[in-house]
Amino acid sequence: MAIDLRSDTVTRPTAAMREAIAAAPVGDDQFGEDPSVNLLQERVAALLGKEAGLFVPTGHMANQLALLRFTRPGDEVVVGRETHAVWHEIGAGAANAGVQFREVGTDGTFTAEELVAAIKPRGHLIFPPTTLVEVEDTHNRAGGIVWERASLEAVGETARTHDLASYLDGARLLNAAVARGEDPAALAAPFDLVTIALSPFDLVTIALSKGLGGPAGSVLAGRRDDVTALVRERRRLGGAMRQSGILAAAGLHALEHHVARLAEDHANARLIGERLGASGRVAIDLARLETNIVVFHLPAGGPDAAEVVRRAGEHDVLVLAFGPRTVRAVTHLDVNAAACAEAAEVLAAAVAPQ
Ligand SMILES: *Cc1c(COP(=O)(O)O)cnc(C)c1O
Repeated sequence: MAIDLRSDTVTRPTAAMREAIAAAPVGDDQFGEDPSVNLLQERVAALLGKEAGLFVPTGHMANQLALLRFTRPGDEVVVGRETHAVWHEIGAGAANAGVQFREVGTDGTFTAEELVAAIKPRGHLIFPPTTLVEVEDTHNRAGGIVWERASLEAVGETARTHDLASYLDGARLLNAAVARGEDPAALAAPFDLVTIALSPFDLVTIALSKGLGGPAGSVLAGRRDDVTALVRERRRLGGAMRQSGILAAAGLHALEHHVARLAEDHANARLIGERLGASGRVAIDLARLETNIVVFHLPAGGPDAAEVVRRAGEHDVLVLAFGPRTVRAVTHLDVNAAACAEAAEVLAAAVAPQ
């Protein structure tokens, strides 16, 4: 069988997860009557220190809901470089919410100063008003890098003082929490001297379908009034489901059994990254390789990304070309240390010039 490192979305539900799915109590979620969905929403809200949660079919929809809640058409949203909302959502932010994005910073993260410098005032005769700042932690395209907690706090604080809404796309927030030994609620809601009832991030989303190994779904968590409003927006986007407790049960199982083990994925990614680094044939930032995403760059003179993907594929190792000379490999529940060691050797050979 192939060692599939294309994404952490390729995981299949475990036998135990399938049992949890089979046993799940369900009801019609449009009547608020699915106990599994309700429990999942409460669990995630508690985990992230928020008032309420909302189960949505995809992280993509969660990101659209955040835009619909906090912006109006014509607004500008400040994001880091190569953010998911800009690169991987087929222009949905423009199509659904009518916003434009302003990318700041250099590596997917950014500072409070960079945010301040990008903010355009409301009510200006010419400028598009900045109304939302969006953070991605861990940052996918930058190689799963982790935001410093102090930076999250500074950005959240700056958003509040400038009257911007703030949204944390934490599809892999639990990877960040496990990598740094942080409480997820602390990352979602850093200590705030001004208004302790509010957190720096108005809305947070975590994905159940990525490293957690669930089949589908993300959960938003935030203030109760925001979540209540988003129940209608979710329906408007076509994301209102019925006996979705089938999926929520998988999410509950994943939260219970698949969080601590994310550390294994991180160790396996490290093993692949270090082997590639030792080959001397790729550019890779090992200092920031802390989670489950390995992004490496191929210098001129050797094979390009398409060629590396092809060569690895011949040896049943699947990875993705992320740019002409950039490759991504992602570790997850369905690849163990031995498979990753094997994949590391295959990739090290695949990056050789010839
Ligand atoms: C995968 C991903 C999403 C979208 O999640 P889907 O459930 O695949 O729609 C959003 N943000 C980030 C950072 C992601 O990696």
